Amino acid sequence: MEKIAFIGLGNMGGPMAANLVKAGYTVTAFDLSAAALEQAVSHGCTRGESAHQAAAGAEVVISMLPSGDAVKGLYLGARGLLQALAENTLIIDCSTISANDARQLIAAANERELRAVDAPVSGGTAAAAAGTLSFMCGGDEGAVDAARPFLQAMGANIFHAGPAGSGQVAKICNNMLLAIHMIGTAEALQLGVDNGLDPAVLSEIMKASSGGNWSLEKYNPYPGVMESVPASNGYAGGFAVALMLKDLGLAMDTAAGSASSTPLGALAKNLYQLHGSSEESRALDFSSIQNLFRRPAGN
Ligand code: NAD
Repeated sequence: MEKIAFIGLGNMGGPMAANLVKAGYTVTAFDLSAAALEQAVSHGCTRGESAHQAAAGAEVVISMLPSGDAVKGLYLGARGLLQALAENTLIIDCSTISANDARQLIAAANERELRAVDAPVSGGTAAAAAGTLSFMCGGDEGAVDAARPFLQAMGANIFHAGPAGSGQVAKICNNMLLAIHMIGTAEALQLGVDNGLDPAVLSEIMKASSGGNWSLEKYNPYPGVMESVPASNGYAGGFAVALMLKDLGLAMDTAAGSASSTPLGALAKNLYQLHGSSEESRALDFSSIQNLFRRPAGN
């Protein structure tokens, strides 16, 4: 079995690394946070003292980091990881970053005779723990095929979206659409409630009608309509408003780069910006956008 280095063991990376261990791989892990690293060690990873030490002798390096700057800081530059990896090492970056940053990383890796793919994920922390993530890959076919066995140990669906950066483009298209239909669903539910309808009854009607969509079917934003979703748990857990704002920012940057019209994406970003104006609201699940439409009692 190949030796894997896993860098970035947060909410997503921690359980992903644990699933690679469960699949029988030897995983040497590193995170700037001692607590995150400790947690990964308790799940069977070997402790890396630094990213370089974790990657020494690894045939595969997987990263799951918060931003493009963190990814570029890890791999690029005179002291970056690319300079230290053996020829033909496979790099799988699962972080959500801009397509341009992903292309820059993959081009720099290819220049050094290293294989690399962008492989951002959809599914959130529950899917990361269950090993049922969806991976959207960008890169050449050989590199994506080489990445498949490792991705299969962490996920249920693996898509090859196209050349380098395409995984990131697919990811932000999906999340922009998710934001738009979540906001539309919250708006429609509130209109019904304000006019005397039970949100559960209205949800059933719309699910069976032309307004049906994923937010309504799987992730109802109105409290009490659906069990086991963040809306019925004070909007705790799930996918934070802050992360949705990050993805909508990446979508808008990408749209600017391709001169694409994304008026609903821009409006969705503005509404999430308004809703996430405090640290507290940015930490809530993104379905809490419902609160933007709800009226104080008595109005
Ligand atoms: P997180 O903040 O929980 O974890 C990131 C980890 O990276 C932290 O433990 C941090 O200490 C570590 N880190 C940062 N810079 C580092 C470096 N240079 N070297 C080593 N470690 C470093 O974030 P997360 O929720 O796990 O998200 C990771 C990525 O996955 C993000 O790009 C996010 O957009 C994406 N994502 C998250 C979710 C989700 O539901 N949380 C869903 C899909 C995609």
